[in-house]
Amino acid sequence: MPKFPSSIKSKLPKTGTTIFTIMSGLANEVGAINLSQGFPDFMCNEELIKLVDQYVRKGFNQYAPMPGIIPLREAIAEKVSTLYGINYNPDTEITIAPGGTEAIYAAITAVIDEDDEVIIFEPAYDSYTPAIELNKGIPVYIELQAPDYKIDWDTVRKRLNPKTKMIMINTPHNPTGSVLTRDDMKQLEKITKDTDIIILSDEVYEHIIFDEIQHESVLRYPKLAERSFVVYSFGKTYHNTGWKMGYCLAPEALTKEFRRVHQFIVFSTNTPYQYAFADLMKKKELYLELGAFYQKKRDFFLKGIEGSRFSVKPASGSYFQLLGYNKITDEKDTEYAIRLTKEIGVASIPVSVFYHRNIDHKMLRFCFAKSEDTLKRATEKLQKV
Ligand code: PMP
Repeated sequence: MPKFPSSIKSKLPKTGTTIFTIMSGLANEVGAINLSQGFPDFMCNEELIKLVDQYVRKGFNQYAPMPGIIPLREAIAEKVSTLYGINYNPDTEITIAPGGTEAIYAAITAVIDEDDEVIIFEPAYDSYTPAIELNKGIPVYIELQAPDYKIDWDTVRKRLNPKTKMIMINTPHNPTGSVLTRDDMKQLEKITKDTDIIILSDEVYEHIIFDEIQHESVLRYPKLAERSFVVYSFGKTYHNTGWKMGYCLAPEALTKEFRRVHQFIVFSTNTPYQYAFADLMKKKELYLELGAFYQKKRDFFLKGIEGSRFSVKPASGSYFQLLGYNKITDEKDTEYAIRLTKEIGVASIPVSVFYHRNIDHKMLRFCFAKSEDTLKRATEKLQKV
């Protein structure tokens, strides 16, 4: 083929093959246990599969309404009202999206203009920065430090200026497994008071939280909720990340702009899955018991690691556990993750890839959304280090 066009100015020149692809590829190549990418290796709910089948066969196979089907939006309104004590109007404030990632992209695109600053706490989920840069916004990074990854709100205060348009938060947090506290939320409330700063709260792991800790959703704080896009993912809650289903809650004015963008990214989201989730959401125990379900896995993984040379601070939420290896080697985390995959046979993600400056705290991220058998085999191998 002739080379055409002769040159393209990339909009995301720094984007290449992600570490997730690299580590999964390597795990496959050398036959290692793959705890790198964040997804369950077990089946989703049987009833959910039957419901999808039923709706497909009944003929619910054409475009859904742009914001999502009403029964699902109503089920979400009911859920957040019960859980967090806040009312969202299904008509004007709730939008179904094809996954949290699209919702994040649509929310950022809806409000971020050229030179608008967006505060991001690093380590951060990898879709945030590209979404900001594609909209010519400026990511302003605040780097959190191992092993606690706590936000220093004085630093945040110092980074605020008239160009600050948005603050992004993520709790429970990928990759660190840390969670924001009531005090964090109060601080956020304080620093955004009397400003026009918009919050984007990524709460895709809302139910995966441990040790009786309460999930501090922005929805519990009316003064935060009134300025927030809040993003959720069915994939995390119902063990089907590949279905790419989620939703975004925001007050009417923000939702209006969100939908203007969402309409031209995808128009609407998968119809039969929406009907199936609307039915399944009635079984509240499925999400209310998710924390206990994953806490068992976290504890099983931690028990397996006990006595090994890795340092551990138990994850408070999400399905990721960080392991520190500074007592083992001073290799770079990217190099050590590769060596561990090849020599020990367990693939992980080096945490430095979640920092734009690739800060290396000698930490690796392991996904424990796996069967006990997988976790047992993995921890036995890690004990050999
Ligand atoms: N935010 C965070 C912090 C995540 O870990 C993920 C999934 N890895 C998402 C958003 C995206 O969710 P989804 O798969 O529904 O697009």
